[in-house]
Amino acid sequence: MNPILYFSTNGDPQKVDFKQALLAGQAPDKGLYMPELIPRLDADLIASFSDMTYPEIAYEVLRPYVGELIHEDRLIALLKDAYDFEVPLEEVFPGKHIMRLDRGPTCSFKDFAARFMGRTIEHFLKEEGRSMVILTATSGDTGSAVAHAFYGLEKIDVVVLFPRDEVTVRQRKQMTTLGDNVHPLAVRGKFDDCQALVKRAFTDPELARMNLSSANSINIGRLLPQAVYYFYAASRLGPEGGRLVFSVPSGNFGDLMGGLIAMRMGLPMRRFIAATNENDEFPRFMKTGVYNPIRPSRNCISNAMNVGHPSNLARLFSLYGGWMDETGVVKRAPDLAAMKGDLFAVSITDAETRVAMKDVYERYSIVLEPHGAVGWAGLMRYLHEVEDWNPCVSLETADPAKFPKEIVDLMGIEPKRDAISSLDLLVESYGHIGDDYGELKRELFSIFGDRT
Ligand SMILES: *Cc1c(COP(=O)(O)O)cnc(C)c1O
Repeated sequence: MNPILYFSTNGDPQKVDFKQALLAGQAPDKGLYMPELIPRLDADLIASFSDMTYPEIAYEVLRPYVGELIHEDRLIALLKDAYDFEVPLEEVFPGKHIMRLDRGPTCSFKDFAARFMGRTIEHFLKEEGRSMVILTATSGDTGSAVAHAFYGLEKIDVVVLFPRDEVTVRQRKQMTTLGDNVHPLAVRGKFDDCQALVKRAFTDPELARMNLSSANSINIGRLLPQAVYYFYAASRLGPEGGRLVFSVPSGNFGDLMGGLIAMRMGLPMRRFIAATNENDEFPRFMKTGVYNPIRPSRNCISNAMNVGHPSNLARLFSLYGGWMDETGVVKRAPDLAAMKGDLFAVSITDAETRVAMKDVYERYSIVLEPHGAVGWAGLMRYLHEVEDWNPCVSLETADPAKFPKEIVDLMGIEPKRDAISSLDLLVESYGHIGDDYGELKRELFSIFGDRT
């Protein structure tokens, strides 16, 4: 088996292997890494997934991308350790399902991606006997998923910068109650300030020996594991399976990209619904062929999807023969007709999101939080406009207990989850800095100063 190489969406002639792409994060020309080949799995192998566990399916889907770089016993062990939680499928009404991707330790679907990335990075660092400091800025969910995914791993420390006044107490506690190799820093500023500090640290030669790396959403190690749960859903829906329709609540479009990769790998699919909130730059592009980022992004109740320029569109365009650079400029148009065949894009307002939450609860006693409700509302819109009798799966990307406010207001119930309510009892520990780069640097030296 020839190893799969990865190319940059910005066209850098240098191709790299999985390990290089994983440890680098972004390509040197600021493009995103994409696999040069998306292997098609045998139909018999896909059919046999119905007898396999989630980690076993993950192994079959991910193995070609990793190649010989991780021994198969090691890879299987790593996947078992990463995916030790349930992935429930609930039928809402006949043929229409919800897949809950919220059972991981930080209660959002970002755990699927972050846990694979953390474990593969740890594997390669141990092999080489080197250490790394992951430096990442977060507005909430990503930071906690990354902190948990790397918590307790060897050879890796995590520094998470978050805006002091812009995260919820629970989001903060998911980062500040871990300790060990996780070092949270509250920044007196906004998310953009945190990101600017991180960017500056990456280009600072005096910090080079700390071996800084980002664990951001564009890392290939976060993209690929998001192809797995689409295969899992198909395997569990059994003979009814047919050609599936998936509705994907989308912000940065990593989740949807995972689905499109699964489709290219041979998953029997009809279509994806790309459901955004009021940040509708992608649905508009699909309608008009013109792409305009939304700056600044609009604030919606599905706040993890408030993205005015999704970075994974660079990958999506590349998959359809186009080229979008990192700033959102379209340098070569993609095959829009082919995109329209595979994708139905829809924007859902906050008002429609609330109606969907109330409606599924009153009719079917199913509780959705705002992100999952955007997906469900997108599916309902699709079924209204397009006659499609295929089985449908709408993704619920977070636990309702993580976003209780809207649920209490709309339904008068309070969703609970032990992993979240138990946070209230834990003791926090974190540093404080202003938005001044000198302070970040002093803090990094005081934690890692003795590293050579
Ligand atoms: C990040 C996130 C999304 C959006 O996923 P993308 O891959 O960025 O499109 C949706 N829901 C929740 C709860 C999230 O945290």
